[in-house]
Amino acid sequence: MNALEVAIARKSYPRERGELVAIEGLDFTVRQGQFACIVGPSGCGKTTLLSIIAGLDRDYQGVVSRNGRNLGMVFQTPRLMPWLSARENVRLAIDPPPRAPGRAEEMLAEMQLEPFLDAFPRQLSGGQQRRVALARAFVNAPDLLLLDEQFLSLDAPTAQHLRELLLSLWARRRPTILFVTHDLREALSLGDRVLFLTAGPARLALDLPLDLPRPRHPDDATIEAMRVRLLESHPDLLRGLTAGGAAESAA
Ligand code: ADP
Ligand code: MG
Repeated sequence: MNALEVAIARKSYPRERGELVAIEGLDFTVRQGQFACIVGPSGCGKTTLLSIIAGLDRDYQGVVSRNGRNLGMVFQTPRLMPWLSARENVRLAIDPPPRAPGRAEEMLAEMQLEPFLDAFPRQLSGGQQRRVALARAFVNAPDLLLLDEQFLSLDAPTAQHLRELLLSLWARRRPTILFVTHDLREALSLGDRVLFLTAGPARLALDLPLDLPRPRHPDDATIEAMRVRLLESHPDLLRGLTAGGAAESAA
């Protein structure tokens, strides 16, 4: 069964003169429980796509349908409430408000944040803040989880640790995941599938199924070999990933 069906004919933002077309003719579906990575150059329209799927942006032409009620979204920056502790940040997200006590604490413990339940965001490292944000997204057992460029600003071991935490949550609870990144090796190490987007306006450049055995690591020789092979067979993808920038169109 499909968890998600996306058919975006056009999404544009107004500009002083004319408009900027961020997405044009982007169609795909995602099976329930699939871990799909979305890869595209910076500025190609990935965050715009997630906002549309999340229902935060309704100003577009097209149709997006989601199956399942619970949606989790983890933004590019952790977006924690600075005046609330880790525990309170997660509690706040529980929907409907905390009937089952201990759920926020349980989720934070799964993220190995037990010692930091009462710490404020400013007292947490970047990686710890990310874990609070992940706990907040997972606390309602989402059917669909949207993750935007999660681990790219972290040092390599911390990033890998968080990828493993995410994979273990996914393996146990099997939400459908849409994981946005501009790092090809990260995508190849995580996904069941990689959707490559063109430099803006975003449309589908390549839809690649992945059935590499797990566990995987971004530095595995098989991942690197696959990356090299992909870039040889689709040099346009490499160009897209290094170039960036969305197309401006004057109306
Ligand atoms: P990505 O997440 O792939 O880096 P975005 O979806 O953030 O790309 O942006 C795609 C394009 O749309 C960029 O050119 C960006 O400048 C533009 N854009 C994004 N959000 C807005 C906005 N709220 N208003 C105007 N332009 C925007
Ligand atoms: Mg973005």
